[in-house]
Amino acid sequence: MRAKIVDLLHSPARTRASGAWLIGQRGTVVMVLRNGTLALFELDAEAGELPGGVRRWPVHWDDLLVYGTQPEHDHPVDGYRLGLSGSRRQTVQHAVPLDAKISLCGEPVYSLPVCGWSMPFSPTADRACPECVRLAAPP
Ligand SMILES: [Zn+2]
Repeated sequence: MRAKIVDLLHSPARTRASGAWLIGQRGTVVMVLRNGTLALFELDAEAGELPGGVRRWPVHWDDLLVYGTQPEHDHPVDGYRLGLSGSRRQTVQHAVPLDAKISLCGEPVYSLPVCGWSMPFSPTADRACPECVRLAAPP
């Protein structure tokens, strides 16, 4: 998912500290963090220009302008999308087959409010559902 940083009002302090440089930068959302409230944002900038040489920053969804929701790189056609269950404070990340509203483990799930169903499921996420990780793994 392609996006641009338009603000940093809601992002973590560490990200805000480099705000002057980060605002206006473009990049790709590579992972969903912290109950789905933050995006791990990978900058397009050249290595030498990055603040502290750091390419990936946690950014709040409200601070991003998402302008492209097509996954651009190696998202397998038969991959699973990211679905959430639980309350906002304690969400679990599930794997959801294409065109389904129920996760692999059988939970009713909802999509991220900002980007819908466009994020792929990541088995390595902190809050990935262990049952979905097991079921989504290739045999
Ligand atoms: Zn699950």
